[in-house]
Amino acid sequence: MNPLPVGVIGVGHLGGSHVKKYLDIPESELVGVWDTDENVQRSAPETFGVRMFESLDSLLANVQAVSVVVPSSAHADVAVAAIEKGVHVFVEKPIAHSISEADRIIEAAQKHNVKLQVGHIERFNSAFRSLEKITSGEINPRFIESHRLARFSPRGMDVSVVLDLMIHDIDLILQLMPSKIERIDASGVGVVSNTADIVNARLIFADGAAANITASRISQKNMRKMRLFQKDSYISLDFETKEAELFQIANASEEFIDKGMFQLAEIETGEEGPAKKIGAKKYLNDGKDALELELKSFIDSVKHNKPPVVSGIEARSALETALEIAEKIG
Ligand code: NAD
Repeated sequence: MNPLPVGVIGVGHLGGSHVKKYLDIPESELVGVWDTDENVQRSAPETFGVRMFESLDSLLANVQAVSVVVPSSAHADVAVAAIEKGVHVFVEKPIAHSISEADRIIEAAQKHNVKLQVGHIERFNSAFRSLEKITSGEINPRFIESHRLARFSPRGMDVSVVLDLMIHDIDLILQLMPSKIERIDASGVGVVSNTADIVNARLIFADGAAANITASRISQKNMRKMRLFQKDSYISLDFETKEAELFQIANASEEFIDKGMFQLAEIETGEEGPAKKIGAKKYLNDGKDALELELKSFIDSVKHNKPPVVSGIEARSALETALEIAEKIG
């Protein structure tokens, strides 16, 4: 099959990485890029060895799919312009700044019958993908604890840490929890900026499950961890090391279902009940690059007419929850 002709709109910090990945992926042919900044227009051809088109329209006339990597306040205008030309769109996260803008993108994609994928990249992190390999029962967390702490950087200070960082975990938690959110409590503080820099939110789900989410961009150390607690097991995901660990309780007489599990300890349960044992297993980083997997999955969805891994509707749900958290903080 021929490579898919693609373009990148917005060649800043993350857009540059999209350009490099598309150049490396054999399933895509990077036709060119577009950016409104005159300095980027001058520098990008030399920096990346790609063609800078003279306008958005001229790029859109020459591609079948684009990555939209402009600031999120401009996502809707740029994405809809592409969609109306029949171009498939990968738009970075958050899908937009408001629900009405998200709806504008989603409705345009439906109307023009093009694929729309949103850049919730942690879905492709090896740690999160490890969950598919856990064979010892269902993933059915009753409590999730997540920490996404980033060292201070002046980048991205125009939006609250909820839309910048916490939305990654919100998206994952909405994928993991089978029930709807019933209540949200949140508190946060703008320590160095005018928007919240550190936020804690608690999501209570209709089935009684809960998630406690903390995001900060003023920490001394980076940390991206999520812990899932469920009946008879505890799963720890580390998005920095891209590793996962499973700890599981089983009857002492039974074999552990997951292969490669080793016994950590035995639990005495008294005379009536059988003794239990605790097993553990580590799921190592498989070394696959998340951005490469993400863009390959987008290309695959376009070429083979498959539903995208992260749909506009799912990204809208994450945005809706993020906006509600941001509103609670005030
Ligand atoms: P950036 O400011 O470094 O780059 C944005 C680029 O877009 C700039 O070069 C700017 O000139 C250009 N631009 C602005 N408006 C434009 C328009 N209308 N048309 C064409 N070009 C335009 O920003 P960034 O840090 O690369 O972030 C871009 C997007 O990626 C944001 O939505 C952000 O939330 C998202 N992001 C996602 C992740 C992730 O983990 N998935 C990480 C960082 C950024």
